[in-house]
Amino acid sequence: MLARHCVVPAIVSALLAATPAAAQDWRLVIHGGAGTIERDRMTPERDAEIRAALTQALETGSAVLSEGGSALDAVEATIRVLEDNPNFNAGRGAVFTAAGRNELDASIMDGRTRDAGAVAGVTATRHPISLARAVMEDSPHVMMVATGANEFSIEQGLEQADPEWFHTQERYDQLQRFLSRDSADASDQAGADYKFGTVGAVALDMEGNLAAGTSTGGMTGKLYGRVGDSPVIGAGTYADNRACAISATGAGEYYIREGVAHEICARIRFLGESPQEAADFVQAETLEMGGSGGVIVLGADGDWAYSFNTAGMYRGMAAKDSHVSVGIYGDE
Ligand code: ASP
Repeated sequence: MLARHCVVPAIVSALLAATPAAAQDWRLVIHGGAGTIERDRMTPERDAEIRAALTQALETGSAVLSEGGSALDAVEATIRVLEDNPNFNAGRGAVFTAAGRNELDASIMDGRTRDAGAVAGVTATRHPISLARAVMEDSPHVMMVATGANEFSIEQGLEQADPEWFHTQERYDQLQRFLSRDSADASDQAGADYKFGTVGAVALDMEGNLAAGTSTGGMTGKLYGRVGDSPVIGAGTYADNRACAISATGAGEYYIREGVAHEICARIRFLGESPQEAADFVQAETLEMGGSGGVIVLGADGDWAYSFNTAGMYRGMAAKDSHVSVGIYGDE
C-alpha cells in the first residue's frame, strides 16, 4: 500500500491512477465480550463451544473478505453468526432487563465514508446488526430507538423474532440472581459479570476499507430505557479509513463518558500511536474512572490489537495467509 502522505510526481501518479488498486491483505478481528473469564470458572465443554462459535464467525467473515467482499459486509455477516449463538449477549442469548425483557442495541460504521447506523432498545429483530445497517443505508438518520426502530425493521422487511427466540434460561437465571443480590453486589453492577458476551467485529478489506460493528443485550437488570455504549458511535463503535476501526465491550456508562472508540482512533490519527498503544492508553484511563472491559482495534495499515483489563475476553483474528486464531483467557 502507498504511504498516504508521500509526494508522487504527476506522471507516476497518472500511471497509478490507471492501474487497478493492488489487492491487499485483508484482516478480521472479533470479540465476544470481556469479563471475569477464568479457567477454573469454565467447563471444558463451554470452553470448546465458545472457541467453535468464534471460529465459525471468523470463517463466515473471512469467506466474504477472501472473495473480495467489503469490510462492511464481512462485519455484518460475522456479527449475525454471533447474534444467533446463545453463548453471547447479543440477539439470541441477550441478557434481561430488570423488567424481564430482552432489549437489544447495535451499531455499524463504514470507514470509507464514516456513514453509521445504530439501534437501541429493539425487541423483535432477529439480527439487530442488520437493522443498524438498514438505518445507515435506508434512512436519513444515524440512530433509531425502541418502538420506532421496531416499526422501521418491519417496513424494511427484516426477519422478525418472537420474545422466546431471545430468551435463554441461563440469562434468565442470571437476572434472578441479580434481582436477589445484596446491596454490596448491586453497587458493582458495572464491574461484575452481569453483562459479558457483547459481540463485535472490525474488518479491513482488499480495497483497504475499514468497517466496525457491535451488538449487545446490554447489562443484566438494566433499567427501562437504559442504553449502553454499544450503539453509541464514538463510544462502542467507530471506523475511519484515516485511522482505524474499533469495537468495544465493557461497562457502557464509562465507555460512553470516555468516548473510547473515537478517542482511540483520534490518538492513532493525530499522535501516530499504534493500535496497541492507543488502545492500552484509553483503556487505562477508562479503568481509572471505574470502567473495565476491552476493545479490538484494526488500523488502516492492517496493524491490530486486543486490549482488555478484565481476566479474559472472548476474541479471535483471521487474515489472508494466516490461520484463524481464537482466545478466551488473559494469559493466552
Ligand atoms: N458495553 C455493553 C453495555 O454496556 C455491555 C458489554 O459490552 O458487556 O451495554
